[in-house]
Amino acid sequence: MPSYDYRCANCSKRSVIYQTYEEYGQMPIECPYCGSKDLRRIIGRIRIAKSEDSRLEDLSDPSSWGDFDENDPKSMAKMMRKMGNELGEDMPAEFDEVVDRLEAGDDPEQIEKDMPDLGGGDDFGF
Ligand SMILES: [Zn+2]
Repeated sequence: MPSYDYRCANCSKRSVIYQTYEEYGQMPIECPYCGSKDLRRIIGRIRIAKSEDSRLEDLSDPSSWGDFDENDPKSMAKMMRKMGNELGEDMPAEFDEVVDRLEAGDDPEQIEKDMPDLGGGDDFGF
């Protein structure tokens, strides 16, 4: 059920009133604090564009990764490519090499051993 923000013109208290779309504008409402029927709707700010921050939040939410399977190197490579694209930054050459090897089915641990510069692999979530 959608909720609507109101401010009471009588006591100035803000209240949230839950109404269905059918009820909205039809059903009489009153201030839960003083009983006044003189309530003014507060229109919230509408967010049009998703910010950079929320895009990164999406990335950190595993459920947004789709069919990501951390035990499947190919799935991991796919996710890493997606992440690289979403970040919109030039990833280091090592990143591409790791992704390429994952896609080729290489063992992530072996890749990590071959590339000590990865700093223990933490950067890539191994
Ligand atoms: Zn009131």
